[in-house]
Amino acid sequence: MRITVIGCGYVGLVTAACFAEMGNDVICVDQDRERIAALSDGRSPIYEPGIEALLAVNLSGRRLAFTTRLDQALERAEVVFIAVGTPSSADGSADISQILSVAASLGQYLMAPAIVVCKSTAPVGTACRVQAILDQHCARRHLNWRASVVSNPEFLKEGVAINDFMRPDRIIIGTEDDHAAEVMCALYAPFVRNHERILLMGRRAAEFSKYAANAFLATKISFMNEMASLSARLGVDIEQVRKGIGSDQRIGHQFIYAGCGYGGSCFPKDIRALLHMAEAEDQQLPLLSAVEARNSTQKQWLFRQISTRLGSNLRDMTVAIWGLSFKPGTDDIRDAPSLVLVKSLLDAGVRVQAFDPVAGTNIANQFAAAVARGQLQLSEDQYQAARFADALVLVTEWKQFRQPDFIRLRELMRRPLLIDGRNQYDPQALQAQGFEYVGVGRPSAE
Ligand code: NAD
Repeated sequence: MRITVIGCGYVGLVTAACFAEMGNDVICVDQDRERIAALSDGRSPIYEPGIEALLAVNLSGRRLAFTTRLDQALERAEVVFIAVGTPSSADGSADISQILSVAASLGQYLMAPAIVVCKSTAPVGTACRVQAILDQHCARRHLNWRASVVSNPEFLKEGVAINDFMRPDRIIIGTEDDHAAEVMCALYAPFVRNHERILLMGRRAAEFSKYAANAFLATKISFMNEMASLSARLGVDIEQVRKGIGSDQRIGHQFIYAGCGYGGSCFPKDIRALLHMAEAEDQQLPLLSAVEARNSTQKQWLFRQISTRLGSNLRDMTVAIWGLSFKPGTDDIRDAPSLVLVKSLLDAGVRVQAFDPVAGTNIANQFAAAVARGQLQLSEDQYQAARFADALVLVTEWKQFRQPDFIRLRELMRRPLLIDGRNQYDPQALQAQGFEYVGVGRPSAE
């Protein structure tokens, strides 16, 4: 099929590359010229494992192209994906202005009755608004056809996005139009040999499903963090509890890890947007408000542990950070727990030495003033970051942090205080090696 993808970010780029990989003819549009220049050259502007290999194969196979010209990209389009951002507005609602602006351009440039797919996460009713905009434009242009708008929310996880897209747990297609449903099922057929994984529903249900899924996952995390705060007080290791409850098939092992809070470009903003949607309907969602509140508290947990151990006057102390992205496998730092920690440390006058395999530049850009005055240093490797540190904080559980050389680490640090925001290490083993160990929901904490 001839596909146009609008927005070359974490979702749009993976969507475009994966559809091209399946033999479709894909053109990807972004308004960011630098992004398009890099992509046309086979360089990915985001870090996502495997993306550059997919770009190389499909660019050279001429199944994938990049442009800033939406009008040209729409000339032959059969299916158009909208994958632009839907960030939080100041009041917490989802800002869908990028989607609406794309819809207006589509109304202007579409030359044939394409299927327009909302892939961005957007509040219930957004696909209907896009439909209304397109209908208005068609009427104004005296066209005798109508573009059909479908909601097809994306569930990929950054860091394993290609695998998630290629082998999805399910594909949700929200449409009331039989022809659009047929085309969408045909498009996704190669990704789901088992067709039961394609779930057809109405547009509003599809939109809501995405928010409900994220809300449920965030609830699991906040639930575990809440249990962790009590277990530490009771002298119980939350890691044992995690295994104890996860083996119950009704609960399962996934997403029940206590830690330093969820971040990223989805959960925080989508929870805020859902709360806002409820408010607009005069509904309270106390459970979800608590999930959000627990997460904010949790993000402050790391700094609290540092000040509890090192004292309230942290000025001129040195703290090392391992991991800055909101999760391993990505350079995305949006709403990451590291942002809260770095800001608190800088405000307290601490010298911060941080290392992340790929997200260092994004943090350096965010805290450019602190980098310029030398208070924040992005280290070349994880051991350099730990030199003369009064504490080391593990924020993101990249694999390379799992089995470090603890003897070397202990020698490098001024004070062997290790704050494990992801419960990666064995407390007893570390204590035996002379570390003062603090984990989330583990007896030494709080
Ligand atoms: P992103 O910020 O990485 O990418 C958005 C891209 O859209 C940017 O490159 C931007 O330049 C481009 N853009 C904006 N307006 C445009 C326009 N008018 N014309 C052309 N390009 C335009 O965002 P993302 O992380 O890919 O997320 C996109 C959507 O997918 C969001 O709604 C998000 O909630 C949802 N989503 C994200 C993930 C994820 O893991 N990142 C997962 C599932 C769903």
